[in-house]
Amino acid sequence: ITADEQAVVDEIEEKDIDFLRLQFTDILGTVKNVSVPARQAEKAFKDGIYFDGSSIEGFVRIQESDMRLVPDPDTFAVLPWKADDDGASARLICDVYDTSTGEPFEGDPRRVLQNALDRAEEMGYTVNAAPEPEFFLFEEDEDGRATTKTGDHGGYFDLAPKDLASDVRRDIIYGLEDMGFEIEASHHEVAEGQHEINFEYDDALSTADNVATFRTVVRAIAAQHDLHATFMPKPIPKINGSGMHTHLSLFTEDGENAFHDGDDEFDLSETAHSFLAGILEHAPAITAVADPTVNSYKRLVPGYEAPVYVAWSDRNRSALIRKPAARIPAASRIEARFPDPSCNPYLALAALIQAGLDGIENDLECPDPVRENIYEFDEEKREEYGIETLPSNLGEAVDALEEDEVIYDALGEHVAPKFVEAKSQEFEDYLVDVSDWELDRYLETF
Ligand code: GLU
Ligand code: MG
Ligand code: MG
Repeated sequence: ITADEQAVVDEIEEKDIDFLRLQFTDILGTVKNVSVPARQAEKAFKDGIYFDGSSIEGFVRIQESDMRLVPDPDTFAVLPWKADDDGASARLICDVYDTSTGEPFEGDPRRVLQNALDRAEEMGYTVNAAPEPEFFLFEEDEDGRATTKTGDHGGYFDLAPKDLASDVRRDIIYGLEDMGFEIEASHHEVAEGQHEINFEYDDALSTADNVATFRTVVRAIAAQHDLHATFMPKPIPKINGSGMHTHLSLFTEDGENAFHDGDDEFDLSETAHSFLAGILEHAPAITAVADPTVNSYKRLVPGYEAPVYVAWSDRNRSALIRKPAARIPAASRIEARFPDPSCNPYLALAALIQAGLDGIENDLECPDPVRENIYEFDEEKREEYGIETLPSNLGEAVDALEEDEVIYDALGEHVAPKFVEAKSQEFEDYLVDVSDWELDRYLETF
């Protein structure tokens, strides 16, 4: 085994770790765990751990079901909770290999992101990403089931005593920091019960790994306080939903920010402008991946700081992409405001990055920023500015994905059709359902 792997084996010994949770995600972004006794660490690094992939959403057909997990030593992190007399557990995120070919398994979302990063590298770039996941903390009822009661009346950046959940948030942050997360900021969001925790930027793969782990950690620590943390994009109608703004920048091999140009009006280089244009061009298809649930489209409506229209801005929050103010050249970046925290972070980042790289490769022309509040534009004005609308539901988004070769290919031959199939089914299930809204509105009226 390599020196990095040996260092992990030593740390497992030192920290008295009992169990290793070998993790990967299915195409929906759900974290899957294979737990092994920690003494198997060396063997896991050397030979991998075999598992049956046929039971994992979107992975393989029954007859080719043996997969191999190979832990990435860079992802070793001790989990910040344990039962009293047990030893600690640690997570290791794994790459999935196909046992019949010995090659990386193309159905592994982490692989899909790696493919995007390989393309960036061929073009001379590394990709940095920083997510801003938002979530709600809700009370549990007597049976421990989640409600949509917040028990908290805080607003944006409010401090205690209104922000009753700040204790919970502090515990969450300590837990994440124990695991090696670099937390940049955390605050109460606009809506009651809504919170946001921002990570320091990191390479895109580590960021995706972090998001996958983050959701598990936040839910686990909230549960210790008898609260339910949800990353559902729009749990309560008519107030802000939860987004996961994603900041992106490209760096060159010598560590320069390829997105920065001090001479540009927006401090953005040609490269950044083309990257941005690529995301705008492919936005409807990316939406299927970055906003992948029926509920996602209840968030993407006018008036709640979530984007609806395909435009960028250096000012306002109604745009799909914003150029945040940057104090130093290294911080020049763009903020994609449409992803939400129900996405598979590997696939969403892969789609965003491949779209941006496509923009660079094809020298796409970036439109002018829109500085007015686009929510207030009528159709005529949108037409005048050439502003498209995002898909208005999951079905339209999946159609857009199927029609967009760049984004479909970004997901790869294995994941793309499986993703389309799963999401079409999800949308159909929704269409045939009868909702509470319909019963309230019609049951006694007709
Ligand atoms: N909650 C808003 C959204 O759905 C974002 C608010 C903000 O600007 O942080 O995207
Ligand atoms: Mg926010
Ligand atoms: Mg933001």
